[in-house]
Amino acid sequence: MRAPQPNQYRDSWCGELTPDEVGRQARVAGWVHRRRDHGGLIFIDLRDRSGIVQIVFHPERGAELFALAEQLRPEHVVSVSGELLARSAENVNPEMATGAVELEVSQGESLASSHTPPFAIDDDGPVDETTRLRYRWLDLRRAGMQQTMITRALITQTLRQQLVERDFLEIETPILTKSTPEGARDFLVPSRMNPGDWYALPQSPQLFKQLLMMAGYERYFQIARCFRDEDLRADRQPEFTQLDVEMAFVDEDQVIEVSEAAIAAVFEATDFPIAPTPWPRIGYDEAMLRYGSDRPDLRFGLEIKDVSEQLRGSEFKVFESVLSGGGTVRALNAGAREMSRSELDSLNEVVQVHGAKAVAPIVVGDGGWTGNLAKFFTAEQITAVNQALEASDGDLLCFVADSPSVAPVAIGALRLELGSRFGLIPDDQHSVCWVVDFPMFEADEESGDLTALHHPFTAPEGDLDDPAALRSRAYDLVVDGNELGGGSIRINTPEVQSRVFDAIGLDADEAKERFGFLLEALEYGAPPHGGIAFGLDRIAALVCGRDSIRDVIAFPKTASGADPLTGAPAPADARQLRDLGIKPQTPPAAS
Ligand code: ASP
Repeated sequence: MRAPQPNQYRDSWCGELTPDEVGRQARVAGWVHRRRDHGGLIFIDLRDRSGIVQIVFHPERGAELFALAEQLRPEHVVSVSGELLARSAENVNPEMATGAVELEVSQGESLASSHTPPFAIDDDGPVDETTRLRYRWLDLRRAGMQQTMITRALITQTLRQQLVERDFLEIETPILTKSTPEGARDFLVPSRMNPGDWYALPQSPQLFKQLLMMAGYERYFQIARCFRDEDLRADRQPEFTQLDVEMAFVDEDQVIEVSEAAIAAVFEATDFPIAPTPWPRIGYDEAMLRYGSDRPDLRFGLEIKDVSEQLRGSEFKVFESVLSGGGTVRALNAGAREMSRSELDSLNEVVQVHGAKAVAPIVVGDGGWTGNLAKFFTAEQITAVNQALEASDGDLLCFVADSPSVAPVAIGALRLELGSRFGLIPDDQHSVCWVVDFPMFEADEESGDLTALHHPFTAPEGDLDDPAALRSRAYDLVVDGNELGGGSIRINTPEVQSRVFDAIGLDADEAKERFGFLLEALEYGAPPHGGIAFGLDRIAALVCGRDSIRDVIAFPKTASGADPLTGAPAPADARQLRDLGIKPQTPPAAS
């Protein structure tokens, strides 16, 4: 850190006092990290953001000063000054950046005392998360959290710098706005001045950034807060941060190029080891086939194959009824693995979560298949499948047969489960790819209703008269099986936008009522444009090696969307509700 501006509290940072400065007077301020009483001497590790330095109180320096030292307890706040001394050789602590020096206190002032913290600040060990969140200001003092906050700030700063260097303008967009569909529920805010009307908090700045392109700003970015009222099961937060980017007069390649430059700079700044750019691109269909996911984790193999053709016409009823019903059989070679019956059975649960019925396991032996399923298949079928899966004796083959929408995803989940059970996923190696060429829509299994796979402002590719077959000009950045970002080239004509609204079942009136402003703006010269948004919390968690994004957000919510620190969400008082014209009702049970 740059040397502090000297004042009555400090002229130096604790963590930056070095042996070169021995003999000088230094004044430092901070928190009591640890305290040791050593037969007459009191040693304190004093901590500020820069680190820790040992300070020593001698009784002969005066009773008053020593009395101050005797009162100090962990997390009390003091400012002290004195001479910086070299520690004697046997007292040097090589673990500490300032372990070769100590400050002999000649003056000191207590600035604040502290209750005994509910957990130790000088120990980064596990603490119950609700307690950490309830006392977040203390949790944030701990070394681990401080490191993640510093890294996160470095990430944001690196991204800003990269984009500013490339002529992007940082522009803010409204928080009180209208619904911006990204597939989640909106948070609503009642308008006191317009009784009965509601603002929605933005799920993303999507439409505003498009309007900025139509306004001629060419290159926009924002570190944007987004709000999505989702169930928070999977490490999500109701509010999260995106790096939001939009560019005019571009196609996919330019957006991807800028993204790679910005994100690679973040990885470099944070020493996160990853392949050099350009990063590989994988088509959606290929990702779904080989990895059973549009967020493929490429750190390990266990690639999936479609073995429907090889197995068609077998005596095995389960496969045959799936295949004759238009389904598919997917398989992977798990290698020479010993798995007990119950371990194999437990794999069923993995695929059942995704709607498949079971995993059919087969072990290869003597050039054929062993076990009681083998008899249902011809020698040709067995050979063909073994060839497709590059199987050799002792290999365990896993099959999932189901509809074309269920089987790939179910076996994709199985692949991840096996990868982690067999320890195939390295922690210290990372994989990166773009997934491109997505379908434009996905159809509801029962009703057949279409919804946009990305969002309905994504430019489609293909024949608009056959919406279900359209592809989209979308792209996602995937690292280690996590989607770090996603975006698309957008629709820039009112005709195509209306057709897409129509395809997702928004009739003209509804489209006008919800997105009239966008349709109108598209009538006034909208340039070709496209962009992307990156999940900043997820990037920070990834480079900090944290499993939860809560560890890289200063003040996050719990999994139920609560904040144990402030007590939010909380009932509103009757008067506020009256002002808003809202009558409290018993809320419906949470869905
Ligand atoms: N608005 C999109 C999202 O939040 C990203 C984009 O299309 O730029 O996921």
